[in-house]
Amino acid sequence: MSDQESTTPSSAQSPEEPSLVQIKPMSKVAGGVPSIIATARTAWNEMGMARGVRTLLKLNQQAGFDCPGCAWPEPDKERSHAEFCENGAKHVADEATTKRVTPEFFRKWNVADLSGKSDYWLGKQGRITNPIVLRRRATNYEQITWDEAFALIAVELNSLNHPDEAVFYTSGRTSNEAAFLYQLFVRQFGTNNLPDCSNMCHESSGSALSETIGVGKGTVTLEDFNLARAIFVIGQNPGTNHPRMLSALQKAKRNGCKLVHINPLPEVGMKQFKHPQEVLEWLGEGTTLADLFLQVRINGDVALLKGIMKALFEAEERSPGQVLDQEFIKGYTSGFEEFAAGIKKASWDKITEQSGIARMQIDAAAQVFIESERTIFCWAMGLTQHKNAVANIQEIVNLMLLRGQIGKPGAGLCPVRGHSNVQGDRTMGIWERPTDTFLDKLGSEFDFEPPRRHGYDTVKAIEAMHAKKARVFFALGGNFLSATPDTEYTAEALRQCKLTVHVSTKLNRAHLITGEQALILPCLGRTETDLQASGPQFVTTENSMAVVQASRGFLRPASEELLSEPAIVAGLASATLGERSQVDWEELKSNYDLIRDRIARVVPGFDDYNARVGQPGGFYLPNAARQRTFKTASGRAIFTVHAMPKHDLKADQYLMMTIRSHDQFNTSIYGLDDRYRGVYGGRRVVFLNRDDMHCENFAGGQMVDLFSHFEGEERIARHFVVVPYSIPRRCAATYFPETNVLVPLRSVADKSNTPVSKSVVISIRPSSEERNANS
Ligand code: SF4
Repeated sequence: MSDQESTTPSSAQSPEEPSLVQIKPMSKVAGGVPSIIATARTAWNEMGMARGVRTLLKLNQQAGFDCPGCAWPEPDKERSHAEFCENGAKHVADEATTKRVTPEFFRKWNVADLSGKSDYWLGKQGRITNPIVLRRRATNYEQITWDEAFALIAVELNSLNHPDEAVFYTSGRTSNEAAFLYQLFVRQFGTNNLPDCSNMCHESSGSALSETIGVGKGTVTLEDFNLARAIFVIGQNPGTNHPRMLSALQKAKRNGCKLVHINPLPEVGMKQFKHPQEVLEWLGEGTTLADLFLQVRINGDVALLKGIMKALFEAEERSPGQVLDQEFIKGYTSGFEEFAAGIKKASWDKITEQSGIARMQIDAAAQVFIESERTIFCWAMGLTQHKNAVANIQEIVNLMLLRGQIGKPGAGLCPVRGHSNVQGDRTMGIWERPTDTFLDKLGSEFDFEPPRRHGYDTVKAIEAMHAKKARVFFALGGNFLSATPDTEYTAEALRQCKLTVHVSTKLNRAHLITGEQALILPCLGRTETDLQASGPQFVTTENSMAVVQASRGFLRPASEELLSEPAIVAGLASATLGERSQVDWEELKSNYDLIRDRIARVVPGFDDYNARVGQPGGFYLPNAARQRTFKTASGRAIFTVHAMPKHDLKADQYLMMTIRSHDQFNTSIYGLDDRYRGVYGGRRVVFLNRDDMHCENFAGGQMVDLFSHFEGEERIARHFVVVPYSIPRRCAATYFPETNVLVPLRSVADKSNTPVSKSVVISIRPSSEERNANS
């Protein structure tokens, strides 16, 4: 894994032409008319107007389908007719597009030629209509029947030396029903190798919260946002990644709630927002959201949170009994004394230096926290993808425990999940480290002995494939190659496999980096009717706030050859396990009520699943911490002590984080513009502070190469355009997945093993071509 060179293009990376990048003034306000125009344009281009309107009116409605985008919840009761955001419309249009990728397309395009096309181009080709196979040494994918495809996979799986030589990945779009069947099949096959996209996003949140409050999920509901007096949004950009959250923040703000935004980049969405559905707002200025913005250094969050807590302790000393919630601390927590001693010892100089935030601003944030009786803390991947990610989140828990802000209305913790059912998939047992309690129940319900040995998470799976310890890779959704770090290394890992299989709706780069043989199995999307032997089916998902709800597609499937994800899993299980499995896969596939009945008997909180999910809006899963029952070993919420992370950067080094543009959703690229940051026509850009640019003699628009440094290894990503931006000194930001190539696979978060995509040490040099031209 050393000295990996990423030239452009490389077959594992999107070959985008960087010279087309234009830097323009950025939007001053999020939402509003530009959002409506973008939504209408996308719907029109991809779906046609009538189909587009019909589809969008069903999006996130109680009798409609769940957005395949992020996991932000819908209101429990009253929903508007347009209960979606610009991004949700783009996700849906992407899936419900009328364009098709047929077997003819694959006769015309071989894999090598497709590799030369950008991710954006691949995504724009349309829905895949038939199962296809890339046979050994073949240049083109070709059509295959479903039975042949299942048989091919079964032969490869059954010829492995051990079930642990197979890896079964899951993306966060997979429904509860498909996820439950999938993990059942995988465990009956004999392994716990179930990595998922959660390993790369909120695994750190799960680890941090389970350890300290006894539940790995957030503790708030959408209604709590209406009651909160202060909301802190840290390490998160809701305007781009969870846009409808802005409506909830706007509503909170109108109720008198104070908003504090903590992030290395100012984000338009947190500054000024116009609700696209409030016509009167279109002409006005919109709502100013954040009352206070703290432009923290990349990975300066532990220092900043310690600073806020130190200010709380000092305020408590000045007004004893007025600031800390002593009753809550005594009644519900443990570890306070040691924790308090650590905070008192932390030096203000270190806090301000490492956070990059002045004392006055820290005091201002502390004041908002002290004055609020009901506070919510929201966060996303700005906190979860650092070496000290678990510590980041546990410092939030510490802060909230100090004032008893967990387990009461209008207050609590809110890790905001990025993909619509990523939380539900984990609830269904998609986890490489299942508990014995879960396995006991699963085994007794289906009369088998599940494997107990923990499996590979995403990072370990890549390492195992690279070392040829895993030889078959199966992905239920997603774009594994682009979602994962260390792109060239991951590509090499996939190439070592005997077989790579992707269940997908559209073409992506992961289909082009294959094992000896490869399959693409096209599945139904959320928008489409799912007709099985017993009639039309619905599936269920769990959103970020643990609401389980039904999703009913209604469009005619993109092709008659598509299968639903549960049907694909059932077909695969029957072909692979044969008589080794006592499960009636055909029956389960024919009627998803039967799958839900089995889930109800295995997974806590799903009693009476079919009846309850039929209620409008679905049902909430139990959350003990919400009732101040902390299911930790001591039965108490735990204060934890953490060191302040320090980055010893050399004079020419920067701390880089990857971010998403406004025209993308995870690895799906919907366009080449990011109007919220003023970048148009390209994605290979690096955002830098003007003072740093001045010191290094970089000009805006200049082409540079990026070099990451980790344990003596250097990784290179060439041809990035410098964009001057408001970002702390010695910090840099680049788009994901273009710079995943710079993220070392072995650079992972403590405890959660999440790749450290938000603090990558890089240096920046003028691009080699530019140097040559000047010499
Ligand atoms: S906020 Fe998220 S879930 Fe809601 S419509 Fe937008 S992308 Fe979809």
